[in-house]
Amino acid sequence: MTDEHAYDVAIIGAGVVGTAIGRQLARYRLRTVLLERSNDVGTGTSKANTAIVHTGFDTQPGSLESTLVRRGHELLTAYAAASGIALERTGAVLVAWDAEQTARLDEVLAKSQANGYHHARRITLEELSRREPHLGGGATGAVTIPDESIICPWSASVAFATEAVGAGVELQLGVEVSHARRGPDDWVLRTTNGDIRARWVVNAAGLGSDLVNAWFGHDEFGITPRRGQLIVFDKLARPLLSSILLPVPTERTKGVLVAPTVYGNVLLGPTAEDIPDRDDTATTAEGIGGLLRAGRRILPELVHEEVTAVYAGLRAATEHRDYQISVHERERYACVGGIRSTGLTASLAIAEHVVAQMGDAGLTLAEAEQEPVVPRLPELGERGTRAFEDAGLIEGDPAYGSIVCFCERVTVGEVRDALGSPVPAVDLGGVRRRTRATNGRCQGFFCGAAVAARLASAVRP
Ligand SMILES: Cc1cc2nc3c(=O)[nH]c(=O)nc-3n(C[C@H](O)[C@H](O)[C@H](O)COP(=O)(O)OP(=O)(O)OC[C@H]3O[C@@H](n4cnc5c(N)ncnc54)[C@H](O)[C@@H]3O)c2cc1C
Repeated sequence: MTDEHAYDVAIIGAGVVGTAIGRQLARYRLRTVLLERSNDVGTGTSKANTAIVHTGFDTQPGSLESTLVRRGHELLTAYAAASGIALERTGAVLVAWDAEQTARLDEVLAKSQANGYHHARRITLEELSRREPHLGGGATGAVTIPDESIICPWSASVAFATEAVGAGVELQLGVEVSHARRGPDDWVLRTTNGDIRARWVVNAAGLGSDLVNAWFGHDEFGITPRRGQLIVFDKLARPLLSSILLPVPTERTKGVLVAPTVYGNVLLGPTAEDIPDRDDTATTAEGIGGLLRAGRRILPELVHEEVTAVYAGLRAATEHRDYQISVHERERYACVGGIRSTGLTASLAIAEHVVAQMGDAGLTLAEAEQEPVVPRLPELGERGTRAFEDAGLIEGDPAYGSIVCFCERVTVGEVRDALGSPVPAVDLGGVRRRTRATNGRCQGFFCGAAVAARLASAVRP
């Protein structure tokens, strides 16, 4: 092992949380490495969620999650504007469907106030049906939460990683960490790429965060994956709703919702099933059937629309109700685990919080000479001006006028850029998450081979 492998900080896991922490550390004169076992950033829980930027109105008041979701909403909204990540402030309506749920709406409003979110308000059933005319019959009460937003979830990890790498953070993909042991002055991480030494280690391993925590002698929590299955409906369903349609949440889950996506589709889900297998992202007939039954009540016309895809993500649920974040000064170890259902929203705030705590615990945070540069991402949102419709862009480079994926209207220029970017796509999934190619009605039946050919001939930067 040479000094080449010695870092000030090693982060295990390049999901939305690990990449946000990498980006935050990039502001300082530190040698930081981000280690990810997958071949891309954001391929764990971060790639399969509901893509809502939460206000935190329904989090547990006084919890760390409440504080970080509120701050994260503010930071991520601003970051999306600066970097071009697609984000739409659709707002949400929380709908009660019986007397018991209606009686709980005052509780919902009180909780929202306690969480520092003051814009939630009751609306009449007339206003509800004016806003959402396709809603199923039988609603008994509603609250609006105007600042709930939808976002492109994939762009967040890519943007954070791109910014971090641009500012000197080393990203090692396809590198799995299997153990940590204490050296004389630092930690020695055993990885599939040899041993790596680091003075500080950050555990951002998502579903594996309890296992990594054990290497450092801690057992404060255990992860039980909570699977969430979702259905993606065709873009023709998009006019059926104008905002996110939320159920009254329970202690255990936010429940089944219907939400537009920034790509112009409609999502129905997620389920909440505790399962033993940390890799089991299969969808099931039972899960999808249950969603369709719930969807029929919320938005009856939705279930007659074409289904584009189904998918499942795993929440890193623990026996506790809050995030499991702790910074251990003596050990120079930060655990950022159990980031279950709101981690996309809170990611930038989690990073801010953890890095500040590491600074308090002795990590020297001397500002880097140059501020990291926020990258500019391609426009992936249906509401924005996409490359294929941007006359100026096409005039400058005709590759943006040549479409490769017709369902999602993705151009040759965008695929080329995704393959040549600082954190490039290395497989079809990576291209999809950066461009939307293969993500439409035909799910790559038409463009898959053409995109694969471009992947095969790509010259990596
Ligand atoms: C169904 C569902 C809906 C959700 N909806 C929302 C929502 O609407 N809004 C919201 O804000 N949040 C939502 N979330 C939560 C959000 O997606 C997560 O909180 C967030 O993605 C967690 O990010 P992470 O970086 O902690 O974990 P991950 O994305 O899982 O990243 C952890 C990474 O660590 C890597 N790793 C693990 N072990 C090792 C190792 N030993 N060596 C190297 N690498 C390792 C993994 O490969 C993985 O890439 C939802 C989650 C689900 C499942």
